[in-house]
Amino acid sequence: MTRDKALVVFSGGQDSTTCLFWALEHFREVHTITFTYGQKHGIEVEAARKIADMAGVDFHLTDISGIASIGRNSLTDSSMAMDQEKPENAVPNTFVPGRNLFFLSIAAVYARENGIYDMIAGVSQTDFSGYPDCRDSFIRSLNVTLNLAMDAQFVIHTPLMWMDKARTWALADRLGVFELVRDETVTCYNGVKGEGCGHCPACHLRNEGLRKYSEHREVILKSLEDMEL
Ligand code: ZN
Repeated sequence: MTRDKALVVFSGGQDSTTCLFWALEHFREVHTITFTYGQKHGIEVEAARKIADMAGVDFHLTDISGIASIGRNSLTDSSMAMDQEKPENAVPNTFVPGRNLFFLSIAAVYARENGIYDMIAGVSQTDFSGYPDCRDSFIRSLNVTLNLAMDAQFVIHTPLMWMDKARTWALADRLGVFELVRDETVTCYNGVKGEGCGHCPACHLRNEGLRKYSEHREVILKSLEDMEL
C-alpha cells in the first residue's frame, strides 16, 4: 500500500484549493474529486476544473445531484431565501444535510479504486458556521467507519481544521498561491468568482479573514509556524 498518493475533495473554493496546494507539498501524486450536487452555480465546477488544470493534477467530476431532491437547502433550492446569519439553535439553511458524509464516502470508494488511501478535506471547525459535518469529531468518526466499511487504512487529512480564515489565507501565501486563491476560487454563495458578491455569509467570512490577514500578515504567518502542518 502506497502512502505517496492523495485525493483532495475539491470544490474550487478557497479552502479546498489551499488544501490542494498543501497536498502537492506533501504527496508525490495528487488527484482531485469534485461533486455536482445540484448547486445553483456551474461557475464553481468550472473554477475547480481550471484550478486543477493550473495545478497539473487529475480532475474527476462526479454527479450526486440526487441529494438535492431529498433534502432542502438554500444552496440548491432557488425558491428559498438564504439565511444571512446563523439562526439561534439551528444550522443556517445553506447547510446541505449529509454533504460531507456523501462526499467523503464516495471519494473513499474512488480513492480505493485508484490505490489511494490518503484523502484531504478542507473542513474547519473554527469557522464552521455551525455545520456539524465540518467538526473534527465527525471526520474522525467517519474515518473509522470508512476503514471498517472497506477493510482499508484510510487517513483523512484536514489541514485547516483548527485554522480561522485569516490563517487559511496565510497558508495559501506560504504555499505561494495567494493570488491564485484570491482570483480564481469561488467561495461566494451567489457564485461570484474571486472577491465575490460581498454580502453573502461566505463572502463575509472570506473577506473578513482577508482583511485580518492583510493587517497582521507577519504575525499570522509566524503563528502558522507553530502549527503542525
Ligand atoms: Zn457572496
